Amino acid sequence: MAIDIQPVQPLTSRAYKSEDTVIEVGKHRIGGGTLTLIGGPCSIESVDQVMSVADSIKNAGGQVLRGGAFKPRTSPYSFQGMGGDGLKILKKAGMQNDIPVITEVMSTDDFEAVEASADIIQIGARNMQNFHLLKRAGKSQKPILLKRGLSATIDEWLNAAEYIMAEGNSQVILCERGIRTFENYTRNTLDLSAIVAVKTLSHLPIIIDPSHATGRKEMVPAMAKAAIAAGADGLMIEVHNDPENALCDGPQSLKPEEFSVLADELRKIHEVVHNA
Ligand code: PEP
Ligand code: MN
Repeated sequence: MAIDIQPVQPLTSRAYKSEDTVIEVGKHRIGGGTLTLIGGPCSIESVDQVMSVADSIKNAGGQVLRGGAFKPRTSPYSFQGMGGDGLKILKKAGMQNDIPVITEVMSTDDFEAVEASADIIQIGARNMQNFHLLKRAGKSQKPILLKRGLSATIDEWLNAAEYIMAEGNSQVILCERGIRTFENYTRNTLDLSAIVAVKTLSHLPIIIDPSHATGRKEMVPAMAKAAIAAGADGLMIEVHNDPENALCDGPQSLKPEEFSVLADELRKIHEVVHNA
């Protein structure tokens, strides 16, 4: 139900709700001390590709499969994603492998189709302040993963989440994916301090995307481990069966076997952080 009157405290705030929000996706719970590993290709490219990666993510102990069908590319001449056909492939891969799926929605026009195919709906960095899209997401029954905008402050990011919650959807997962700074060795600059800031200010779960944050596969494992050590609720990592020939973001994608090794290490770090 939409909230018309401004609440005394923001709905996203710890002041409004002191206990951590836990979001149920299938048999898995996101937040509240669990570890959530989301893996999969940047873009859905073919049935074989997604089926193969889905199997690997599941075997590595990942809980959610990712794959982009609608891609927000910097250049209009880059691969734009498979659209509706991609959604069908992702849904099938999720069902066959018994793993929930997440995919990005870029426009209110596609919302119903994405909602019907995905277990979690992603709003990308470039759409963090697309208020029509946020309001539509607020009317959905599905959890929303809200990425931090390229140059968004934490306050702007939490206000974007507030738009979703004000429309009645309290299932919001925040995702830090690197912010724009003067540094250009990395694709973006991973703001690990956002984990502590969000945990202090909000009850919502926060996950880290070290793939888009760095743009470099050699940096992904270290940043992923640092994120869990710093208290993140999980990670979203790009995994491709053939990164050298990926249609999108190959240089930042792990191979399935690399994801599997990393997942084991992450579970150990998570155990230490939460049972110390
Ligand atoms: C993605 O996750 O595929 C993506 C495009 O990420 P971002 O919105 O963070 O750039
Ligand atoms: Mn990508």
